[in-house]
Amino acid sequence: MFDLAILGGGPAGYTAAAKAAKAGKMVILFEREALGGTCLNVGCIPTKTLLYSAKQYANALQADKYGVCAEKVSFDYGKIQLRKQKIVRKLAAGIRQQLKDVTIVTGEAHVEKYAAEQVTLVVDETRYEAANLLICTGSVNFVPPIPGIEGNERIWSSTEALAAKQLPESIIIIGGGVIGMEFATLYMELGVKVTVIEAMPRILPNFDEEMVTMLQQRYAKQGVTFLTNTRVHEIKEDKVFFSEANTTTGGMLRADRILVCVGRRPDLTGLEALTTLEFDRRGIKVNDFMQTNLPNVYAAGDVTGKLMLAHVASRQAEVAVGRMLKQIPLQRIAYNAIPSVVYSNPEIASVGLSESEACQFFMEMEGKTAEQVADKYQVHKLPMTFSGRFMAENEGENGLAKMIIDSRTNTVLGVQLYGNPCSEFIAAAAFAVRMGYTLPEFQQVVFPHPTASEILKELL
Ligand code: NAD
Repeated sequence: MFDLAILGGGPAGYTAAAKAAKAGKMVILFEREALGGTCLNVGCIPTKTLLYSAKQYANALQADKYGVCAEKVSFDYGKIQLRKQKIVRKLAAGIRQQLKDVTIVTGEAHVEKYAAEQVTLVVDETRYEAANLLICTGSVNFVPPIPGIEGNERIWSSTEALAAKQLPESIIIIGGGVIGMEFATLYMELGVKVTVIEAMPRILPNFDEEMVTMLQQRYAKQGVTFLTNTRVHEIKEDKVFFSEANTTTGGMLRADRILVCVGRRPDLTGLEALTTLEFDRRGIKVNDFMQTNLPNVYAAGDVTGKLMLAHVASRQAEVAVGRMLKQIPLQRIAYNAIPSVVYSNPEIASVGLSESEACQFFMEMEGKTAEQVADKYQVHKLPMTFSGRFMAENEGENGLAKMIIDSRTNTVLGVQLYGNPCSEFIAAAAFAVRMGYTLPEFQQVVFPHPTASEILKELL
């Protein structure tokens, strides 16, 4: 019997497997497709690879801004795709190496029988037993109930968009969230005509409004059309019929391809026999240590629906295995200090509370209006151009940095950044939020000069 069976080999699954095996546990991991899960195979890594090629191309087109002459700039999408595949292959080999002491079974596993001390799983006709189960089955694309989606060959999910060998001439992206904006960036930079349709009043509803407005204005200048507050009610072949929310005003647009990215849902395949497993509104219900309501069954990653981010998944997996191994001190996850990035160009990065979230938080806590709580928090704000390195490398860009401070305790509540390469230094801000740094403490940290990260000090 194995000590631990893991369902799913994405960031949660492989992180947990490596940690438990390192501690000397007998681990078996089931993966029906490829090790690395959505993140490595059809998510984070392939998109970042394609986006980097697109950025290189866009930079080459504007080389003149930096006094560099680049003529007849072009790209080969086939080569861009091949490079993506090569990187994915190399990283998959790295994961396999990390899991050399883990039994890996390729196939779709189903829980067959559950008892408090033993879980039986079956793949095809073969049975496996384990003392503990960790569910890391991830998530699948959510397909909204819009008539005309099913069976329409023009419709892409993000997985199909990533695999496409050729670029469309035009694309309508339904959903202006993180995935939608990453693909909008890719296609815009490679010269595809892009339209983004978003149901909410603004794209990227979870990010700082001012920064998102700057990004949207910039993309609009580059030719992207945004229809916000807009609902798609039908799709017929290449035609998308939409209307403005709560009105009958609407219209129709057509495009070569239609990309649907309106969120993801937990993947519960293989769990049918766990009839008493409890769920909350987002996914499998877990406590702070990733334990479900069933003794010896844990869950980590997108299947818990907490925050669908690969770095959250791997941290949740560490916590789950830590609990299973009875490691002390028991670790919890600081969900208030999870950094989050939109890989647009320029990038947006955020950790902790934004200005509007801080306002909302104090309004709810004090039962007062926005004006009445305005003195409860301070917003420090500065264009990124106050960083010399940012100026050197971002010709014609302004960028923006914000830090939100709790006036009562003088601690850092959140940081939002807009400008390249903010994804690379948001971790410094995450550290400050996680550790509850006060401003004087944060001011003692020395940032290397010249780097764009210095903006975090300039802000204060
Ligand atoms: P999302 O929830 O980020 O965005 C979906 C967007 O679609 C929302 O803005 C929503 O208002 C809109 N929407 C919903 N229904 C709609 C409809 N019928 N018509 C028009 N718009 C509609 O989801 P996503 O972008 O699909 O990403 C899925 C998950 O993957 C998210 O949890 C995301 O955080 C994660 N992810 C993260 C990253 C990253 O951190 N860089 C990258 C990719 C994916």
